[in-house]
Amino acid sequence: MVTTTQKDGETWFQCEECGMLFDVRADAQAHEDNCDTDSPSYLQ
Ligand SMILES: [Zn+2]
Repeated sequence: MVTTTQKDGETWFQCEECGMLFDVRADAQAHEDNCDTDSPSYLQ
């Protein structure tokens, strides 16, 4: 889920999975669609 956060007086959009910040909601949403921290198969 993408959450909003205030930083330096501006609204940022944060990936709830990994905490990465974006200044555009669409970018955050696109990232989160590909964010796969729940199943890090590449670590196995
Ligand atoms: Zn993420």
